[in-house]
Amino acid sequence: MTQSPLAVPSPAVALLEALHFSATKHSDQRRKDKEASPYINHPIRVAQLLASEGGVTDLVILQAAILHDTVEDTDTTPEEIERHFGPEVRHVVEEVTDDKNLPKAERKQLQVEHAPHLSPQAKQLKIADKTANVQNMTTSPPDGWSLERKREYLDWADRVVAGCRGCNPALEAVYDEVIAQGREALAAVAA
Ligand code: NDP
Ligand code: ZN
Repeated sequence: MTQSPLAVPSPAVALLEALHFSATKHSDQRRKDKEASPYINHPIRVAQLLASEGGVTDLVILQAAILHDTVEDTDTTPEEIERHFGPEVRHVVEEVTDDKNLPKAERKQLQVEHAPHLSPQAKQLKIADKTANVQNMTTSPPDGWSLERKREYLDWADRVVAGCRGCNPALEAVYDEVIAQGREALAAVAA
């Protein structure tokens, strides 16, 4: 049973509550890689990047990172996030949630346009999300994607991240390293 946000749980409890909620919601989902990795690996990686590489200790960001794809990819509603984790976490999750009613290309363009207007919390989450996905493009890429498509993904991720800069230099440095490695790896495949 998830604790009420009013009860102010310890940081460990708060994170474990978010992990349990997210793992349950994503339990029947897999990533797009050949091995069909468990989906929950991704939000865990995003939260870990924020904490370990970005030095983030703000529980709102870390919980939002763990929950960041629940509204977009599962039956979770923003109201449900607020009930379990409070209005601030709900707000950050909503900021990084695409409108699924729009066509894919438009959603991708809107991510680029909205990035500079996100809160600092959401900007950091976006950078960590793109870092994880860009890294996956070479370590465990979506099955069947052409080299060109992976390259296009890196270019798009870079445009989104450009709008999120200025909020966490350490995290941005890790992103820069990961995208440089990604471009190098794709160039090596093409050569
Ligand atoms: P997506 O953008 O939906 O796929 C990438 C997303 O999948 C990531 O942002 C990530 O999102 C999630 N994901 C899941 N598994 C992985 C993984 N192993 N590695 C990295 N990311 C993963 O791509 P679409 O297929 O929808 O294509 C989007 C755009 O590409 C469209 O605009 C379309 O027109 C275009 N397109 C291009 C083609 C080409 O050959 N150039 C062909 C077809 C489409 P999350 O963090 O939310 O999990
Ligand atoms: Zn994500």
